[in-house]
Parts: sequence; structure tokens; C-alpha cells
Amino acid sequence: MASTSVAAEAARRRTFAVISHPDAGKSTITEALALHAHVIGEAGAVHGKGGRKAVVSDWMAMEQQRGISITSAVLQFSYRDCVVNLLDTPGHADFSEDTYRVLTAVDCAVMLLDAAKGLEPQTLKLFEVCRHRRIPVITFINKWDRPGLDALELLDEIETRIGMKPTPLTWPVGVAGEFHGVIDRRDDHMVHFERTPGGTRAAIEEHLDVDEARRRYGADFDRAAEEVELLAASDATHDQKLFVDAVTTPVLFGAAVANFGVRQLLDVLIDHAPPPSPQPDEADEPRSLEAPFSGFVFKIQANMNPAHRDQVAFLRVCSGRFERGMVVTHATSGRPFTTKYAQSMFGASRDTIDEAFPGDVIGLVNATNLGIGDSLYLERPVRFPALPSYAPEHFATIRTDDTSKAKRFRRGITQLDAEGVVQVLHSQARGEHSPVLAAVGPMQFEVAAHRLRTEFNVPVTVDNLPYTLARRTDADGAKSLVSAPGVEVFTRLRDDAILAAFPNRWRLQTITSDLPNVLLEPLLADA
Ligand code: GDP
Repeated sequence: MASTSVAAEAARRRTFAVISHPDAGKSTITEALALHAHVIGEAGAVHGKGGRKAVVSDWMAMEQQRGISITSAVLQFSYRDCVVNLLDTPGHADFSEDTYRVLTAVDCAVMLLDAAKGLEPQTLKLFEVCRHRRIPVITFINKWDRPGLDALELLDEIETRIGMKPTPLTWPVGVAGEFHGVIDRRDDHMVHFERTPGGTRAAIEEHLDVDEARRRYGADFDRAAEEVELLAASDATHDQKLFVDAVTTPVLFGAAVANFGVRQLLDVLIDHAPPPSPQPDEADEPRSLEAPFSGFVFKIQANMNPAHRDQVAFLRVCSGRFERGMVVTHATSGRPFTTKYAQSMFGASRDTIDEAFPGDVIGLVNATNLGIGDSLYLERPVRFPALPSYAPEHFATIRTDDTSKAKRFRRGITQLDAEGVVQVLHSQARGEHSPVLAAVGPMQFEVAAHRLRTEFNVPVTVDNLPYTLARRTDADGAKSLVSAPGVEVFTRLRDDAILAAFPNRWRLQTITSDLPNVLLEPLLADA
């Protein structure tokens, strides 16, 4: 094994995340992908929704009460001659900040759309993050087994509202709701899908040539074939370079619940999704894949297992070979870090991993001094750029009435910030002992309060503030804004960014026109 070249191992990695508006079918397609790759015998074993077998993580009672999956982890499987890393993202929109961070660790994203709903608010935000970070996106139009929008209309919507040109690789035969199969534009054959009982096993596929397809599906096939010609005439054809540059998005049609089109998606991932490439460091210098081991932490999850009260840092490997037990350097502190407890994990299952390559994700257990965005390296020092912080839409004060626990309270708040659970803000007016929490989703506050109470044993009170959006400003802007009614200026603990919070868009507009010289810059993934 020692002779395996790092470059060759990296070249066969495909690291991606499935992203979508809630309910588009992310859990269903995750199971379907795993099923096709033979990781799990039967679909339904990964997530616990809809009465299927539950293997959800149990790190927090809250998660179970609400029946949502807050944690994200990684499913690794082999398919064809590749190693596929599927990074899970939380299903609930309140934790989209977590999803955005997962996107810093992938080489490609699969965007799932509900055929009946088209682009939804969360879809638009996620596309924006992908475009900003230049992450190639494959679009999978799901739920084609039931009535939905017209396929050409959906493409139009993607092009006009997202600004990425859709280039379908497959095209549906039969309108949404009467789905016979797809024309595979790469070989012009039609693939007919047949349901298996309950949809729990891979769909039965039949490959038909044009004559046979026309004989069986008549007008439906002719219409699809005409539309395919239309696509070719309007240049809606896959171009690998434009896809990798996030200018175009290949589109596939299917129905995850029946496993229709899932194999095609996996094949497209293998054939077209980019393998890991050299990761730029803080100074924008790419670190060669074959440089000694390096990686960065993109997610921290505490208390995944209440029995162990542990904290897991998820690290994306950027260069070199990782071997469990390696002593690496933590770039932020300069201290050595022992990787004795390295694991791969998904849902409730954990396996010890012995080695990993660029593109892989490792879970470092009991990594109490690692923070979000921290770099680890072997031999040749590197610091990867800090992870971006996203536009908060909810704000709240948090305090403890137990003065004897003030110190513990501060430690807890700092810890939650380092883990990226919430953004911690301070304002001059409130003083350093009265932090304000900011979040993309309000449930982040519940998680923060829950953790302070249970882990740090500090009673806390959270009170919502009336702000709904923030803009980045500078020191001059802060001076001008400090006396503006309804506006509050904060400094973010994480990056010292100066943020101005506004109750609504209308107030932002009046400020913009009253104080035209004040810098008010939108933040990433702004609503
Ligand atoms: P998530 O919130 O994005 O993870 O969505 P889920 O995977 O939980 O799916 C939401 C609902 O849509 C569930 O009831 C699924 O059974 C259903 N669903 C998922 N994929 C399909 C599909 O291809 N066709 C149909 N008809 N329903 C689907």
C-alpha cells in the first residue's frame, strides 16, 4: 500500500454534497446513492424519516424530538474504480450555515430540485454560495414520477434565475407524472425505468434504441426527441470546462424514491465531477496534492455520542497521505496534534480509518482545541483561508443570571463560536459581558442555549432582538451609524468584522439614502 501514489489516489476521489430546499428528496437520494454503491443493503438504513429504519445519530434529544437531522457527516463508498465521499448536510433550513460550510469541503455539489416546485428560496441561496465559491453544480430534477412543471420551463427558470446555463445530459420521456424513462444524450439511447416493489432496490433498467423507443412510447418519445434537438440547437450541450468553471450545470431527471435516474447520476459524478485539485492557502498559493499531509476543519460536532461527551472535528484532507496516529501540527496554535482517534462516520456508525487521501474526510475525535477553519499539517507549514461567515438573519441576546458562572458562560460562548454553532457579536454600547448571538436560522440559538445548559452547566436566557439583516461596514461607517435609530453596530468575535444590523429592508434603504457615503456591503448568502 505504501507505494500507492497520492496523485493516483486523489484522482479517483469524488467528493460532493447533495443540497436542496427541504423536502426535495435529499435523504431519499442519499439512501438511493448508497444503495447503488452497495454500502447499505437496502435503502432506508441511513436516515430515519417516514417510518423507515432509523440509524440517526442521537447526539441531542432535541434532534429526536423534532425528527430532524442536525448533524452532518460523511458516507464513503466505492463505485466503479472511484472512491466517492458524500458529505451529508442538515435537512433543516435553520442549519444552512452548516451546509454552507460543508460546501467549502467539496469539489462538486448535486442540487436537487422538486419537479413540481422548481427553484425554491433555499435553492437560490445554495446556488449563490456555489457560484461564489465556484463549485461545479450538477442539477438533479427529482420527483418526475408525479405531476410537475414542464421540463423546458424548468430549464428556463434555472437559466434566468440562477445564471448558470443548464445542459441536460438526460431528457425525460413522458411528462412529469407519466415518466417512462430518459433519453441519454451521450449515446442517444433511451433508458426505460421499471419500479421494483417499494422502490427499495435499484430500479430495473432497459436500454432501447430509437426504433424500439418510438414503437413503445410513440408521441411521448417523439416529443422528447424533438426537445433534445431543440437543446442541441440552443447550445444546451455539456461542455466539461464550462461545467468545472461553474458556468453551466449538467441536468439529470429522475425519481429518487423509485431509484429512477440514480445510477445515471452516479455515473455522471464519476465521469464528470472534478477530482480534488491543489487547495489554495491563505496567500492563494495552491498546495500540491503530493505535498506532505494537510487539511482543514470544516465542521465541529460536539456530543455526537452522549455516552462519551466527545467532540469531533471533521477535516477535509487537502494534500498527502493521512495515516492514523500521525503527529501533525495545528497551524493556529503551533502545537502538535496526535491523530490517534481518527474515524470515518455516517449516521450512528463509526469506523476507525487508517489512511486517507486528498478529498477524503476524517473525523478527529476529542479534538477539543480545534476550531472551524483550522489547518493541520505535516512537515511543510500551511494555513488554509478562514472559512467564510454567512449573513445572519436572526439576532438575540444571551445572558446568565448566575453571576458565579460568569467565567464558565464566557468560555462556553467562545467555544460555541469556535465551533461555528452561532456567530458571537459584541457592541460597545452593551459591553463585553453582554454578547449578542447571530444566526442564519433561529434553531441555532436553541442549540447554543441547550449546550450551555447541559454541557457547561450554565443557566441562560435568550431574548430575540428585532433585527433581520446585517451589512458589513467599516470603522467610519460604524461612527456614522451608531446614532441611527433602529440600527445597531457590532463587532464579530470570529473575524473582527464590523456589522450593522437592521430591523428590515426598509430601514436599510432609508439609511442607504440618508447616509450615502457609509459602506454597507452585503454578506455571503444574503437573503
Ligand atoms: P429532504 O427533506 O430533502 O431530505 O427530503 P426527503 O428525502 O425526506 O423527501 C421528502 C418527501 O418527498 C418524502 O415523503 C419522500 O418520500 C418524497 N420523495 C423523495 N423523492 C421522491 C420522488 O422521486 N418522487 C416522489 N413522488 N416523492 C419523493
